[in-house]
Amino acid sequence: MAQGETNIPTPDDRQVVVCLYCNKPQEVGRKTLSMTCKFCNKSLRLQDIPLKGYEARRSIETLGIVTVEKKGNVVTDKILCGGLVVRGKVKGNVKSRGPVLVGPEAEIKGDVTAPTLAVGAGAILEGNYNIGPETPKPPQGGMKALPP
Ligand SMILES: [Zn+2]
Repeated sequence: MAQGETNIPTPDDRQVVVCLYCNKPQEVGRKTLSMTCKFCNKSLRLQDIPLKGYEARRSIETLGIVTVEKKGNVVTDKILCGGLVVRGKVKGNVKSRGPVLVGPEAEIKGDVTAPTLAVGAGAILEGNYNIGPETPKPPQGGMKALPP
């Protein structure tokens, strides 16, 4: 009895990533470091980005975690990331898919959009903070209680 060779990849080798730009989920190998979105053809980075010194960049974009170390000082237009850990300084607008952790005495100057935010004592936050799951806001106003 000859058995056919089965070549089914185990689910552990795959991960689902959601494109930073078009928000479409797609499956990639777990060890993939960068890829091109199947839907919008933009290149996506998947690895974590550690920033340890002064960095001036137009943008920092990854589906991984961006970590700004204590001596890090990041100046950028925008950070699009899967998560953010700040122990140093960040100047720029942040849009994170995952939790944003701001260490004690860290500093963010810019707008932050993230599902959750944890801030250590003594951290400095300057900007507009939009924290919470991305749900459509219910229409507000309109129906006021009428006097009897
Ligand atoms: Zn895309």
